[in-house]
Amino acid sequence: MRQTLPTPRLLRTTALLLALALLAACAHAPPRNPLATWVPSPNYDIRRPVLIVLHFTDEHSAQEALDTLRTRNSGGPVSAHYLIGSDGHVYQLVPDQLRAWQAGPGRWGTITDLNSASIGIELDNDGHTPFAQAQIDSLLRLLADLTTRLHIPPTQVIGHEDLAPGRKDDPGPYFPWAQLAAAGFGRWPSGPLCDPPPGFDPWMAMAVVGYALDDRAAVVRSFHHHFRGMQGDTLDAQDLRILYNLVQQIEPTANTCAAPSPPAD
Ligand SMILES: [Zn+2]
Repeated sequence: MRQTLPTPRLLRTTALLLALALLAACAHAPPRNPLATWVPSPNYDIRRPVLIVLHFTDEHSAQEALDTLRTRNSGGPVSAHYLIGSDGHVYQLVPDQLRAWQAGPGRWGTITDLNSASIGIELDNDGHTPFAQAQIDSLLRLLADLTTRLHIPPTQVIGHEDLAPGRKDDPGPYFPWAQLAAAGFGRWPSGPLCDPPPGFDPWMAMAVVGYALDDRAAVVRSFHHHFRGMQGDTLDAQDLRILYNLVQQIEPTANTCAAPSPPAD
């Protein structure tokens, strides 16, 4: 069968379409390392966060916080994945899979890039008043969703001040960590508290829980906000009992607890 040769104009159009198709393909191709030979595998999915960080907004309203979290505000652009109003309304600002600018510099355990590793939840609260129950109810529903859907361990819920002691003080001493713990979120002492055995190192325990020890007084302030709902930068006997209890949950050893002490306040 006789074939007709394409005209020069048709050739040009075909070449242009091919080039456009290649460009479109490049635009969607993942970045590849020129140091390596590309041998693609279909066996992957999107990286997942492993931690949830809670904040208070330190603003006067949810609308004011929404403005700050969505603009280039004077202190530099910041965001969060979620904001929960004091009325319990939940706003989402950044997809779960992307990196919201909420945690900033800090460390928790061995995690140093907290923004890459965490979901950030802002709570509309000025830091000086108790959190509204409707807001905490919404937070508990959101935590149940995130930990289930994204496979984040329920114990991996911390405060901004836990990962950045001295630099941050949110969600502060008013935040109801005990209520979260009762619903199964975050670390919290369980069972009777007892005096730790001789030789117990509270700073080693702080590090096991996750705190970075660069500024120990600041670490105790964050720890007191979180586990005692109080101010103060000096460890006391009750702190040691709580730390011993938390470490026993994380790295259980033979429990040498003799006489139980009063429960955590
Ligand atoms: Zn914060």
